[in-house]
Amino acid sequence: MGRMLKAGSLMAVVFSVVTVLVGLTQTAAADKLKVVTSSADLAYFTKQVGGELVDVDPIASGNRDLHFVEVLPSYMLKLRKADLYFTVGLELDTWSQPLVDGSHNPNLKVVDCSKGISPLEVPTFKVDASHGDLHRFGNPHYWLEPDNIPAICHTIQATLASADPANAAAYQSQLDTYLKAFKEKLAAWHSAADRLNGMSFVCYHNSWPYFCHFFGCKIAGLIEEYPGVAPSPSHLASLISQIKSDSIRAVVYEPYFDHRIPDLLAAKTGCRAVTFPTSVGGLPGTNTYESLIDTLIARLSGAEGVRP
Ligand SMILES: [Zn+2]
Repeated sequence: MGRMLKAGSLMAVVFSVVTVLVGLTQTAAADKLKVVTSSADLAYFTKQVGGELVDVDPIASGNRDLHFVEVLPSYMLKLRKADLYFTVGLELDTWSQPLVDGSHNPNLKVVDCSKGISPLEVPTFKVDASHGDLHRFGNPHYWLEPDNIPAICHTIQATLASADPANAAAYQSQLDTYLKAFKEKLAAWHSAADRLNGMSFVCYHNSWPYFCHFFGCKIAGLIEEYPGVAPSPSHLASLISQIKSDSIRAVVYEPYFDHRIPDLLAAKTGCRAVTFPTSVGGLPGTNTYESLIDTLIARLSGAEGVRP
């Protein structure tokens, strides 16, 4: 009888210890800031700054065209449970607004990560439907310029710190650690920029002005005459003669575009058609921002016949 009681009380102790442990784990998970980002790149930077203190969940994976993301109830549900939502802004991810509205989450804080960036190609004329999907506030592909990453990370850090002041010091130190390593990478990319400087390539969409601004390369022409508008046969014919006359070596295209037009240009001219991912995870081997930029450098150098 006594032995049975002992066994029973031991079970009770084990049970209560397990309950407390499970409770602690649940509290830890519940205490984490829940962050949703529109892009995979912003998710990557949030993870660097937030570390183990945040749960990060991107809406669009890195191989998706961020101009066109379907407004799905499952995305609204993600935002309903979130504390913060980081967007790219500059009218790239305009689909974010219906997701935020549909989330019915009055506590959700939405932060546009383009603040702190100096946009390129801000139109000096009134934009209308005849310009296709042109962005009124400038080109929105600013994360492809490595020099813009510290500003993006500072915006993320300030937002995390104000949403979770108890961990402000940890966000600051995680930001400092990340940016210290990032600056070393920047130095390596600046020397790659010396080798890419002056190269010209044709691209599908106008995703690359920031990349070119950093690396000193040039967009010789665009397959899209206007953003989001399919090219006419006469436009393709003029691109073919330009690639030949200017000895352009590469036509780059984002992974979500039809490869047939770049392939056609390559077949007609002898240049190379190269997939050029725009986001973290856009191609295998690009699971970090650093490997994304390294991949772009290697692919462009390879097409141009220059050692990366
Ligand atoms: Zn665009």
